[in-house]
Amino acid sequence: MSTYLAKERRVAIEAVQTACTITTRVFESLVTGDTLTKKDKSPVTIGDFSAQAAVNYILGQHFSDSIVGEEDAQDLRVEEGAGMRDQIVALVNDALSARKHIDAPLSADAVLAAIDRGCDTGGTGKRFWALDPIDGTKGFLRGGQYAVCLALVVDGEVELGVMGCPNLPLDKSQPKPADGEIRGQTQGLGVVFVAVKGQGAVQLPLGDGGEETPVHMRDATSFSDAVFCESVEAGHSSLDTNARIAEILGMSKERSVRMDSQAKYASIARGDGDVYLRLPVGDGSYREKIWDHAAGALLVAEAGGRVSDIAGRALDFGRGRTLAANRGVIACQEALHAELARAVAAALTEEGRGALLE
Ligand code: AMP
Ligand code: MG
Repeated sequence: MSTYLAKERRVAIEAVQTACTITTRVFESLVTGDTLTKKDKSPVTIGDFSAQAAVNYILGQHFSDSIVGEEDAQDLRVEEGAGMRDQIVALVNDALSARKHIDAPLSADAVLAAIDRGCDTGGTGKRFWALDPIDGTKGFLRGGQYAVCLALVVDGEVELGVMGCPNLPLDKSQPKPADGEIRGQTQGLGVVFVAVKGQGAVQLPLGDGGEETPVHMRDATSFSDAVFCESVEAGHSSLDTNARIAEILGMSKERSVRMDSQAKYASIARGDGDVYLRLPVGDGSYREKIWDHAAGALLVAEAGGRVSDIAGRALDFGRGRTLAANRGVIACQEALHAELARAVAAALTEEGRGALLE
């Protein structure tokens, strides 16, 4: 096995595994029928902060790199945040001590400092980690798909990506549980995906001691039998445009799977779906966040796919906390990418949104 980024790979997998023990515990103990009906987002907030603290703490034990994380601890430093802060500190200490990262509990200040190590602004000419502690917060709350996503970016390029998907079946032929089905039935669920640039992509069971197996994109030669993976949230990507693109490509409308988070990238990387579409909504002023794409994009590239923005440009992870040089994301297997990009351009032009391609 190559020694390139071997230590980073090992530590990143451990960090993501630890974070997933926290998120699954938070789901089991805090997401209840009551929180769901009251649309109470506190479980996901607690899970988000705790997972970011654990990942940042573990990375900090081994590396001095900066971290671009989604969260910062400001809200936990004020009086109203005290209750949540105590829960987070307890969760982080439990998880870190269970996996032997600490001998004695961390203070609240140390946990908040770990969260705030994620405040880097990214950029080019440097090496940093990009972290989304819970990507797909809506999926997490629904008991659907979510992912803990960690990537190492070097000079604007993603070199390592690790993604933990606690609710995805290890065996891709098994049906994904429907939203809300997760509670009480987790057997066979939980996958970690790992990709290092130039070394391919693998999956392994979430938890300890499982074997790594390579993952590849499906070898489709046309779009006729292809399956789309798209967001559940209509506000995150233009689902109507996706439908038109499917039509232009001669795909059947039923062939679309909706799920939250970067589990979409993971799904197409292992051939459980073929096309990932994230077309901008409205005027396209939203800028994608680097932590929402870094791990997933490398996974797909290393599994034989091609990832670009809607205009076919490579994603540039060296522009700060957002993909400021890109709009939207499209991904599919390498050989079909040019045809997909043409269909995307045609659909946007028909809608009068062709300017988004400039
Ligand atoms: P997904 O689960 O694929 O729908 O994506 C979840 C991610 O969408 C979240 O982590 C948000 O950062 C991101 N997001 C929020 N608003 C938008 C938007 N208007 N367009 C695209 N992505 C968004
Ligand atoms: Mg996210």
